[in-house]
Amino acid sequence: ATSSDAILSARGLTKEFFGFKAVNDVDLDVMEGTIHALIGPNGAGKTTVFNLLTKFLTPTEGRIVFRGEDITGVKPADVARMGLVRSFQISAVFPHLTVLDNVRVALQRKEGLATQFWRSNRLLGRLNEEAERLIDAVGLSAFSAHDAAELPYGRKRALEIATTLALDPPVLLFDEPMAGMGVEDIGRISDLIRRIAKGRTVVMVEHNLNVVADLCDRVTVLARGEILAEGDYATVSNDKRVREAYMGS
Ligand code: ADP
Repeated sequence: ATSSDAILSARGLTKEFFGFKAVNDVDLDVMEGTIHALIGPNGAGKTTVFNLLTKFLTPTEGRIVFRGEDITGVKPADVARMGLVRSFQISAVFPHLTVLDNVRVALQRKEGLATQFWRSNRLLGRLNEEAERLIDAVGLSAFSAHDAAELPYGRKRALEIATTLALDPPVLLFDEPMAGMGVEDIGRISDLIRRIAKGRTVVMVEHNLNVVADLCDRVTVLARGEILAEGDYATVSNDKRVREAYMGS
């Protein structure tokens, strides 16, 4: 059975690569409305769990339930359509389109309608308004007319968040959203994630433990493919086994 308050659950999740269990019998409950982090030393299985949850990998064993529906056999695109969306798929941003056009394309994709739909001036106006609202929400108004390729790294990731938000997903998954960022970008993206988490559920793999401490309501610690500890950051960071796992890495 899965916990009834969980929006996303895994039971007995196992992934073998050539007989090696990268993820071994993991049970996970992500509660609706929380920011939930997956942490652990290198090789712990975080990315594999992330790819299993977003259906980019198929589990060797176990199942995944999203909003009461078993999604174990569902394709990534269909899972995204159901509202479980993974951010930072670089392909989501077109380098030679402007920031504004990137967001417009994403909004059109969400509508899933023929371009015909946008030929009416009224609807085109609404599309532009919505695009500007999203660009403002991620702090990119000053960059609206710039090509995506010209953006500094942190801003590019903010654009990726905007194109993801265009889908208005109830659950957002981020794989290392702060990777390769300087302090300033980390602060800005943290604020952004905190804001978009209102009314949404966020799951993130994150290496930067300061970010996790600052941002996340719940933390699952993985080591060697298994769950080592779970709870708020203060609890797991004081766990002796967690400390040992990090020191050994
Ligand atoms: P983390 O994200 O916590 O660093 P990963 O999920 O990337 O850990 O990897 C967990 C383990 O599974 C590692 O030992 C890694 O080498 C192994 N692994 C991950 N993906 C593959 C793969 N496609 N083929 C073989 N081994 C893999």
